[in-house]
Amino acid sequence: MGTAIITGASRGIGRATAKLFATRGYNTVICYNNSVEAADALCDELKREGLLAITYKLDVSRSSEVTKLFNDVYTQFGSIDVLVNNAGVCSFGLLTDITDDEFDRVNGINYNGTFYCTREAVKYMLKEHKGSIVNVSSMWGISGSSCESVYSASKAAVIGLTKSLAKELGPSGIRVNCVAPGVIATEMNATLSDDTMNELSESTPLCRIGTPDEVAETIFFLASDSASFVTGQVLSVDGGFGI
Ligand code: NAP
Repeated sequence: MGTAIITGASRGIGRATAKLFATRGYNTVICYNNSVEAADALCDELKREGLLAITYKLDVSRSSEVTKLFNDVYTQFGSIDVLVNNAGVCSFGLLTDITDDEFDRVNGINYNGTFYCTREAVKYMLKEHKGSIVNVSSMWGISGSSCESVYSASKAAVIGLTKSLAKELGPSGIRVNCVAPGVIATEMNATLSDDTMNELSESTPLCRIGTPDEVAETIFFLASDSASFVTGQVLSVDGGFGI
């Protein structure tokens, strides 16, 4: 099946995605930043099932770390077939309260990180004339969200990158797609009150929030040969919230 690199794979959507890729036969690189124990636990669990997975410490906002990761993975596995740009952070606040540091933190991870990882992955994918990249945006990257302007804009930038690169890299056999999750049950939403979560659930046509596994399945579909004629698309996994 090849090698799949999943950023932010220690928790949440990234963890579910790494598990799915490993289960379906990929050499899976579980990238983590701070959650080393969670990443190790996932890797051990997969190895016990006879699956091939490794962990790798990566802060996606640091270009030099990204370059080293891709070089190391290519040296170890001999190809980079799938990249899932999942690592991300949220940010809340009125525009006028957003500091330069917060602006740089969010864009540094959500947008710059996606850019750095994609740039490195493409160098190796071009050698093989094939590869698949799936970016994790957000429904707020499509519609915008009040008091989440920095987050929403960083996720809109990811969509712009996806569509541009689909055009640029299609002739080289590389597909680039994007998922736009709605409200998903992960630690990212842990600070939201029960009332807010209930309201979000009620605003969702399917009347519930989503699971990391549901996003992982959609990411896998886009990365796989089942989507061999699909590129430049943004697939919402939001229970209909964004309709
Ligand atoms: P999560 O549970 O908070 O997990 C975030 C992941 O990102 C963790 O594995 C974390 O790694 C990693 N990460 C954070 N900063 C990083 C950095 N500087 N470098 C590398 N990795 C870093 O979040 P999630 O809900 O699974 O979100 C995953 C993606 O889905 C994000 O891009 C998010 O914007 C998007 N999304 C989520 C929702 C939702 O409702 N949950 C909705 C729409 C879109 P460590 O813990 O190891 O530091």
